Amino acid sequence: MKFTELWKEITGPLPFVAFLYGKKFKSANDYTLRLLGYSLKELRERHVWDIVCGKFRKEVKDTVLKKRNSEYDDLPVLTKKGEVKRLKLSFCGIETNEGLMGFAFGADVSKERELELVLTGLREIIAVVDSDGTIRYKSPSVRDILGWEVEEVVGKHFSLFVHPEEVGRLQVLKEEVFKSPGKVFSTRYRVKEKGGDYRWMDARMYLPPGWKEKGLLGAVICERDTAEERRMENDPLTGLPNRFLLEEKLKGILRLAGLRGEHIAVVMLNVLRFRDINVTYGFKVGDRVLKEIANRLLSNLRSGDIVGRFVADEFCIVLTGLKTFGDMLRALEKIRSSFEEPFEVEGRSVLLSVCIGVALFPRDGEDAAELIRKSEIALSKAEENGPGSVAIFSKDIEREIHHIVALKNSLKDALERGDIKPYYQPILNLRTLRPVGVEALARWEHPSLGPVSPEEFIHVAEDSGLIAELGKQILVRSVEEFFSLLSEGYNVSLGVNFSARQFMDRNLERDIKEVLNASRFPASSLVVEITESVLMEERARRIIRKVKGLGVKVAIDDFGTGCSSMEYLLGFDVDKIKIDRRFVASMVESAKAEGVVRAVVKLCESIGAVSVAEGVESEGILEKLREVGCSEGQGYYFAPPMSFEELKRFLGNRNHDKDN
Ligand code: C2E
Ligand code: CA
Ligand code: CA
Repeated sequence: MKFTELWKEITGPLPFVAFLYGKKFKSANDYTLRLLGYSLKELRERHVWDIVCGKFRKEVKDTVLKKRNSEYDDLPVLTKKGEVKRLKLSFCGIETNEGLMGFAFGADVSKERELELVLTGLREIIAVVDSDGTIRYKSPSVRDILGWEVEEVVGKHFSLFVHPEEVGRLQVLKEEVFKSPGKVFSTRYRVKEKGGDYRWMDARMYLPPGWKEKGLLGAVICERDTAEERRMENDPLTGLPNRFLLEEKLKGILRLAGLRGEHIAVVMLNVLRFRDINVTYGFKVGDRVLKEIANRLLSNLRSGDIVGRFVADEFCIVLTGLKTFGDMLRALEKIRSSFEEPFEVEGRSVLLSVCIGVALFPRDGEDAAELIRKSEIALSKAEENGPGSVAIFSKDIEREIHHIVALKNSLKDALERGDIKPYYQPILNLRTLRPVGVEALARWEHPSLGPVSPEEFIHVAEDSGLIAELGKQILVRSVEEFFSLLSEGYNVSLGVNFSARQFMDRNLERDIKEVLNASRFPASSLVVEITESVLMEERARRIIRKVKGLGVKVAIDDFGTGCSSMEYLLGFDVDKIKIDRRFVASMVESAKAEGVVRAVVKLCESIGAVSVAEGVESEGILEKLREVGCSEGQGYYFAPPMSFEELKRFLGNRNHDKDN
């Protein structure tokens, strides 16, 4: 009988991995064939190292070719189906009647490795204590939770690791546990951390019935820090895991995914303008919508995926078992499709839009907290790109977001130092070309970044809650500077911009009233510029009504770019409508744009508002605007935004409307 056959007969039925090799496999026992999923014939066509994963492949090739001996505790190998198994293997060279041959034997430790890794990340510490009180087992989680190495604890008496005041009581309890197999005891005591501090833990103790016969060493104790745990819970509204719990679950998922070579996507989803629903319809309705969102998300996911709710309208979804990029895109599409159908709110259907940020495991990070952080960075990017955007984390995005964070930080200083000032752009009567007003526009001279455009920092100010302060500074300063102009007899109005957020952050009406009172500035010379979207909010509409009550004028800014509702527009006594510069600029070459401008001018006539064209950049545009009957205009053709000193010169040189 040949050696290979003899070998097979001996090792055949045994439940361990065993194979014989030259360069290629020569033989393998049934257990190995079943484990790897190959027939012996298929296996024989392969080099031994062909089944080994990644960085170990070269090492194993060396071992095999040089007939060296070596041992692996945890060698990842690939099965025919592409699964990763972890093997504990010893390779040896042997002399046989067929020449020098190698053989390897060992065991499949995939399960143990998984178990060990899972136990390491456990929130509980599991211990086995024998009847003398000696610790016979501690789960590796003891290291993360209390700082002890397993070896430092196992073999020692339990009393060394609890508060001295607890020892007596626990001794008594231990006696009882050993007298009552099968009964579960619950208690709470202080355990000792490696650093010397004590920490309260909840514990359950249990002696399995028939423990001796089963070869167990003693009672099983499960300790957990419930203070930690109370923070980790399901959100009471939607029943979804909160941030802490989701992060915990993600840790476990990542550990297994690492072993199995799977990809994971951490998806952060923000429901845009959700606040509007709460503000407009009340929190009860808002809550119902959130529950509906949770249900839709859940029904679009596969088992194994998880959804959590972080803050009000932010959801985090963990997509598991992804094999390809395409898998992920499909899953993202499904998430997005959860928002295609409108939500029923108080008999109306409301469409919600979302932004999505994604970070990928293992590409973008290996750690749960890191992946969540990176998906949040990607989400900030998506939010910048506008409703419906999806952004996948990248280094570039991270840099860009850091730039914004830097802006945010220095914006605060800039406001404290008063580095953000109003510039003024004249607004002219298009017939007489006399200045009839100015618009105050914020300008920031940044010490290291140079001049930063309001397009960049207004948005940052809104996101960091600084917009109210910024708005107030611009209002106070421009009203102050302007008052001196009025007292010199210039009859021009002052336009000040207010973004939607400013209506949410604080009592704007009070601010405006205060500023007007303090300066004795005539209310009718102040024009509050707001965009159409501001009118969509009930609260904002209330504030605007009050502001109008003070005698202040209201202009609708960037008209034509937002989604405006005629209902809201007509419900107000709007004083001015500013036609967005995109329509104005393309009037000359686009008949459509001209049509829009013409229509807005007509609308203004019919509701008794003044039409103002923004972005008048050329003589040609001016001609067209006159032709369609637009009343006022501003733009580079007349003058760019300028400092207060420059404005005074500009007004002085012009044929302005001086009252005297
Ligand atoms: P906006 O209210 O539409 O302001 C007009 C913008 O058009 C200004 O940009 C102005 O410099 C620019 N502009 C003026 N004439 C022309 C032209 O002929 N052609 C072109 N292409 N552009 C012209 P700026 O100063 O960069 O301000 C951008 C936006 O930032 C403003 O848009 C406004 O929405 C916001 N903003 C500025 N200051 C403030 C402020 O104090 N508070 C708030 N909340 N927002 C502000
Ligand atoms: Ca404006
Ligand atoms: Ca505008």
